[in-house]
This record gives sequence, structure tokens and C-alpha cells, in this order.
Amino acid sequence: NFERVKAQLKARLGNDVYSSWFGRMKVAEASRGLIRLSVPTAFLRQWINSHYLDVITELWKQTEPSTLKVEIVVRSAARSVAPVEEDVAPARRNNIRPTATAQTMPTMARAEGAIPSQPVHGAERQGKQAVLGSPLDPRYTFDSFVQGPSNRVAFAAARSLSESSPSALRFNPLFIHASVGLGKTHLLQAIAAETIRLKPQAHVVYLTAEYFMWRFATAIRDNYALHLKEQLRDIDLLIIDDMQFLQGKSIQHEFCHLINMLLDSAKQVVVAADRPPSELESLEPRVRSRLNGGVALEMALPDYEMRLSILQQRYAAARMEMPTLEIPEEILSHVAQTVTGSGRELEGAFNQILFRQSFEPEMSIDWVKEVLGNVYSAGEPKRVRIEDIQRIVARHYNVSKNELLSNRRTRTIVKPRQIAMYLAKVMTPRSLPEIGRRFGGRDHTTVLHAVRKIEGLSGADNTMAQELELLKRLIAEQA
Ligand code: ADP
Ligand code: MG
Repeated sequence: NFERVKAQLKARLGNDVYSSWFGRMKVAEASRGLIRLSVPTAFLRQWINSHYLDVITELWKQTEPSTLKVEIVVRSAARSVAPVEEDVAPARRNNIRPTATAQTMPTMARAEGAIPSQPVHGAERQGKQAVLGSPLDPRYTFDSFVQGPSNRVAFAAARSLSESSPSALRFNPLFIHASVGLGKTHLLQAIAAETIRLKPQAHVVYLTAEYFMWRFATAIRDNYALHLKEQLRDIDLLIIDDMQFLQGKSIQHEFCHLINMLLDSAKQVVVAADRPPSELESLEPRVRSRLNGGVALEMALPDYEMRLSILQQRYAAARMEMPTLEIPEEILSHVAQTVTGSGRELEGAFNQILFRQSFEPEMSIDWVKEVLGNVYSAGEPKRVRIEDIQRIVARHYNVSKNELLSNRRTRTIVKPRQIAMYLAKVMTPRSLPEIGRRFGGRDHTTVLHAVRKIEGLSGADNTMAQELELLKRLIAEQA
């Protein structure tokens, strides 16, 4: 059975990703419905748990219906030296040829490792270097970034920083803010990729605030914080995404220390968040003021021309994979007129069209209206009720509505609950306190936390974003 599960994982994730994360996985125990899989490091366990456990469990249940639970454990192996290198080595190897799923994996954007067109052999290259950072999605480049009035300044700043004309240091730190789906991650990763391309020697690290926190927390717990700090010292370009999620006093202290040090030695720091530095309430004042010390640039919603370009670009990319795909120009422009939201919403709409097209290839404007109609009824949003959201989300995740509104903290219930609260916020005009009341009398901060959490997840993970799109559609259709 393990072999079958492994084969399916490999088929789903591709060889590189598979071997990075699961290559060293073994069956530790399989009895009475419990499957225990072992991996060599705590890092792998954590990562697999948070990103792949659902998939593995599902695959296992398919091959062995009596399976009740799959667990990942760390096998005990005497490890005496700094765990940092060993911990992240698989991620490193993975970065050699990024794949579509690579974006959900932490790895380092170190110059020599991250260029897709130059495969190298990870094992020989690991050496003693610091390995730190989140993945780069190879699709996120300056070339694929559509610029226009709403983001031109941020784009220009980003670009000049990668080319690093000496004037670029005037934007230090460069702070980019925009709400979800407007291209922050895309732009930040483009900075990283371009810098690596132009300056292969530069030590570039891109990471999300959450990953930064997690790295530090585990480093402190496992007593290698000093080692980690030393590794951070030689960064030339530090890029932190989703800064609004940086939490915790001691982590912020470390962060502050780190950027002070980098800024003092004229190293570049780039930060993105969903709001300007002054509104990052959860940040310590001195972190905020340090972030305020550079330039803060905002990106706003794309206009019609930009939306159309984004769609055209997605179309061109889709055609590379499906040369027979034909989408008439008038359809793209209809979508650009109807879907007036962020880049992510445009992608969602485009994916709906691709999906529908696969079994109903005859396209027309009416066809598109039908595909999109329920979600995006131009200008006039449909009234959605919180009860409908709760009902549909509960059904989708196979939990009861009572469970959804209860206080149970099981993972399988918490996630749907947070998603339902998030959808209530984005699909209805209800306020946070009102939503809290309707969700079993919760506090508005709980709702806010859920909203941010889901925003964060969908920002970091395309499957999550797609899942939300799907739910929105279901809700709009069935409400
Ligand atoms: P954010 O990080 O701000 O939430 P992302 O960078 O993840 O947003 O963008 C969401 C999706 O929309 C990505 O796939 C991205 O490529 C696309 N997108 C957003 N803005 C643009 C743009 N100006 N040009 C091209 N694609 C964009
Ligand atoms: Mg993002």
C-alpha cells in the first residue's frame, strides 16, 4: 500500500517535489487503521503535516479503506550537529527545478540554487551555507507582471532595486502595500528572481513573515538561534512578504535587530503587507518606525486595460500547455469588464472558464455570462446570507452546522469554521461583531483572526485560493 500511495504522490507532485519531501519517508507502523509514517527531521514532519497530511490521508484511505488516521512522526536518529543544514536540505534540492507546487515549499532563494534554467546537483552544493527562505514561483517575474497606473511606481521601484543602480538604496527599506490579490507576492518574487539573475553572487532571501516566525521559533526551541542569526548576517537582499502576520514580542525583537543590522550595513530590505506600516497595529512601535524609514508604495486595483492584459497573459500561458485552446478576444474583454477585482479574482474567473471549457467547448458571451454570472454580476452583487454560507461550507467539508458553530477546536472543524467566517466577511456586508454573533457568539477579534488567516493561506497557496473560488461559486449559486 505504501508503494501505491507513494506512486500516486509522485504522480501528483512530480518527481522533484516528491523526492524532496517524501523521499525519506518510511512506514513506522500500520495497524488497526492507524498509519504512522516516519521522516528524519522535525522540519519535514511539520511541513508534511501542514501541507500534505490531508492528501496523504486521502490517498491512503483510497488504497486501504480501513485506514482511520495517518500520522507523521520523527524517527529517532542521533543527530549531534547543527540541525539547520540537515533540516532544510530537501527543500534546497527541490528548488533546483521549481514546479507548480514549489510555491508551497520553503527553500532558499540563494543565487546558485534557484535558477530554473541551470539545474545543479543539490547534494554536492549544500556545503555549509545558510539555507533559509521560502520558495520562488518561477512564473512570478517582471515580464509577467502587468503594470499600469495603479502599480507603476511600485513596479519601477522594484525594478530599479533589482538592477541596483546606486540610487536604489534610497528606497531602503522598500515597503509595498496592497490588499490581497493585487500582486505583492508576484512583485516581491520578481525582485528576488531578477536580482539572482543579474547578480548570481548575491545572497537573496525571500520569505514570508510566517515562515520567518516559524524558523525563529524552532531555532530558539532547538537551541540554534545563534547559528541561525549568523546565517542571516550575510544576506544582501532580504525580502519579507505578508508582514502583517509577524507576531510575538520576541520574534519582533529579533526581526527588528535583523533589519537594523542589514540596513546599517547598507543591505537592501523589501517588505510587503496588506496595509501601510502605520496601520500594522500588532507590530511593536520600533519595528513600525524602522519600516517607515524608507519608502512606502501602494498598489491598487487594476484598471480595465490591466485586467485585460492579465487575462491575455493567462491565456497565452494556458495555450502553451493546451495549444488547441481558443478563447475569442471578445470573451476576454467581457471578463475584464465584469470581473473588476484583483489579479487573483481574474485568475479565478479565468480558471472557471478553462474548467468549463474542458467539457463545454462552444464559447459565447452568454456562455461566459453563465459561467461567471452568479459570482460576478457586474456591479450588482447578489445578496448572500450568512446561513447559506454556513450551510454550504459545512456540507462541503462534511461537518455539521452545529459543529461549525460550536467551540470544538479540532483541525477538521476549525478550518471550515475560519473559511466560513472569512466568506461571511467578503461575501456579505456584515460587520465583524455581527459575524461573530452569528457564529455561536464569538468575539470580533476571533473573526478578524480567521479572516486574516484565510487571506494569508490563500495568498500563500493557490489550491486554497481556488478552493475559496469554488466555495464562493457554490454559495452564489445555491444561496
Ligand atoms: P498578493 O500577494 O498581493 O495577495 P499575488 O502576488 O499573490 O497577490 O497575486 C495574485 C495573483 O494575481 C497572482 O497569480 C499574480 O500573478 C496575479 N497578479 C496580480 N497582480 C498582477 C499583475 N499586475 N500582473 C500580473 N499578474 C498579477
Ligand atoms: Mg501574497
